[in-house]
Amino acid sequence: MNSLEAQLHYPLADTLPEPGTTLEVATGVRWIRMALPFALDHINLWLLRDELDGRQGWTVIDCCIARDEAKAQWEQVFASSLEGLPILRVLVTHMHPDHIGLAHWLCERWSTPEQPCRLWISATDYNAARMASQSTTGFGGASAAEFFRSHGLSDPDALEKIRARSSYYPGMVPAVPGTFRRLQDGDVVRIGGRLWECISGYGHAPEHIALYCPELRVLVSGDMVLPRISTNVSVYDIEPESDPLRQFLESIDKFRRLPADTLVLPSHGKPFTGLHRRIEQLHEHHRDRLAEVLEACTGAGGTAADMLPVLFKRKLDLHQTTFAMGESVAHLHTLWFQGKLRRTRDAQGVWRFAPA
Ligand SMILES: [Zn+2]
Repeated sequence: MNSLEAQLHYPLADTLPEPGTTLEVATGVRWIRMALPFALDHINLWLLRDELDGRQGWTVIDCCIARDEAKAQWEQVFASSLEGLPILRVLVTHMHPDHIGLAHWLCERWSTPEQPCRLWISATDYNAARMASQSTTGFGGASAAEFFRSHGLSDPDALEKIRARSSYYPGMVPAVPGTFRRLQDGDVVRIGGRLWECISGYGHAPEHIALYCPELRVLVSGDMVLPRISTNVSVYDIEPESDPLRQFLESIDKFRRLPADTLVLPSHGKPFTGLHRRIEQLHEHHRDRLAEVLEACTGAGGTAADMLPVLFKRKLDLHQTTFAMGESVAHLHTLWFQGKLRRTRDAQGVWRFAPA
């Protein structure tokens, strides 16, 4: 546990749900933890006791990526934890593959001729997921390679691999349900007789929805507030002049009004309390990174690629480099939009950022 983490409290200590089973973390709220084949090696999903249209059953929040291992783990959960009741609906916090990947499979698996098992998600993320599952936009291919090149990534091998990575998203999200129910900021969803409030968040995904239950004082934070790692905040080729870091920092401030003892259920890491402290830590983290980037741009300025060793002190593999490049551009853009940096394009078409 690092020193920042020590300022948070983990009520369950090191207890994790066994694979294929669930662990109750609040009344009617169960934790499922599934393996992911990445550096980030797991995702948390939630199973909530529910009643919908007079039927008893369960609501699932988030799904894991589409792969056989995850389906097998779901089947174990169905056998061990559903008490013979069906999954009634699938809520998805946002369109990233580890969250929406198996939504199509779950909805199909649990729909009956009388009752659809519906996907509930923000309209923005629904449409972004539909588009991404049918194309390469934003996660690889020629446009992503050109975007990274225009921000200073010059290693031809890395660029070639990014260019060739054309089915990155569809590989983990081969399909998205053909219909959905829209979640919006301020919507109140009744789950198992309790009210859950939708809180939108920006900067990590197009329109992330977190869910807060005042009665339980539980926040399903998705990827917007994580206890150990800072949320990925990236500029992507599809929206090359975006300012996601400003959006992210403004979005997490919306959680400040929640009670100090709120139990946070994050998508990665363990359930924790200390939400207000964590929001402060994230602000401090990015404030420090922005200061370092601004410092590194003094004089001749620099590119997003130049900022990688400033922002990331460890060696990055290709997968991490693409994420890191997006984050690097995000920090430069916040300073650019604040008027602290200006950008110019050099003869090679590479963006350089220098003090304004
Ligand atoms: Zn995410």
